[in-house]
Amino acid sequence: MNPRRNLDEAGGIITQRDPTRCIVRLRTPAGLLTPEQLEGLGRCAREAGLHSVHLTTRQTLELPDVDPASLGTLLAALSENGTPLGAERNEVVNVVACPGSATCRLANVETYPLAKELDRRFFGVELPVKVRIGISGCPNMCAGERLCEIGITGIRHPLRDAGRCTGCGTCANTCREGAIVMVNGRLSLDADSCVECGMCIDYCPFAVLTDDGPRYRITVGGRRGRHPSLGQELLTVKTPEEVVRVVGAILDRVYRRAYAGRHFADQLDLLALDDLRAEQ
Ligand code: SF4
Ligand code: SF4
Ligand code: SF4
Repeated sequence: MNPRRNLDEAGGIITQRDPTRCIVRLRTPAGLLTPEQLEGLGRCAREAGLHSVHLTTRQTLELPDVDPASLGTLLAALSENGTPLGAERNEVVNVVACPGSATCRLANVETYPLAKELDRRFFGVELPVKVRIGISGCPNMCAGERLCEIGITGIRHPLRDAGRCTGCGTCANTCREGAIVMVNGRLSLDADSCVECGMCIDYCPFAVLTDDGPRYRITVGGRRGRHPSLGQELLTVKTPEEVVRVVGAILDRVYRRAYAGRHFADQLDLLALDDLRAEQ
């Protein structure tokens, strides 16, 4: 895979409805900004004579109404501010992530460090198709990761110590999927219904339910747009490092095998991603 193209070929500078102006999209992985970056962004916008900053649906920021003649100065100032030019063409675009375990009590995994690492490794790499990456800390899918070309979801699978189960039924009442039923005071788990959210593990009052560590479920081929669909499960791995390796392998297949002009989701057969399972 090649690193980012030249500036004039890269995404992030978007022609506006008024063709004498353009929109500048920023690179803000996981939508995280420091207070200093926010202040600096305001200063950059003011100095460029701009009157608004737009928050996008994919956790990026856009500066509308930019005079193309001022682009050089503006982009240099934005880069110095740590909020450089973003992406929106056939490349890896902004990595989105929910807060994960940084703040969310339902999270199974950390999301921010993984989003930053995926951005550091893969942002803007040249590809035949656009690839969006999304990460959610649990199957509630707040980051919409399964609508991305590559999605990562934090999961936990419940394991039961049958001998210690009191049959209290708290887990069955907790499960929103109806995946746990009590039969004659004994718990029965329907694996097909379980989304591996891990909630029953936290709610068991006797710590009978456990897990063998959080996992990252990787999905491919999600899409938004006119014909939205969920990404398909590819494989599940144990560590953020494995996620980065698998994402790299997927992007390598996309770079080598995908055709331009067709959506990622329509080329899954060409990418032969199932082979990656065998390599695990
Ligand atoms: S996806 Fe899960 S972990 Fe992330 S914000 Fe939503 S509920 Fe919390
Ligand atoms: S992990 Fe979630 S979906 Fe699965 S049984 Fe427990 S509460 Fe239900
Ligand atoms: S909450 Fe725990 S103790 Fe109660 S039925 Fe479920 S596994 Fe058994």
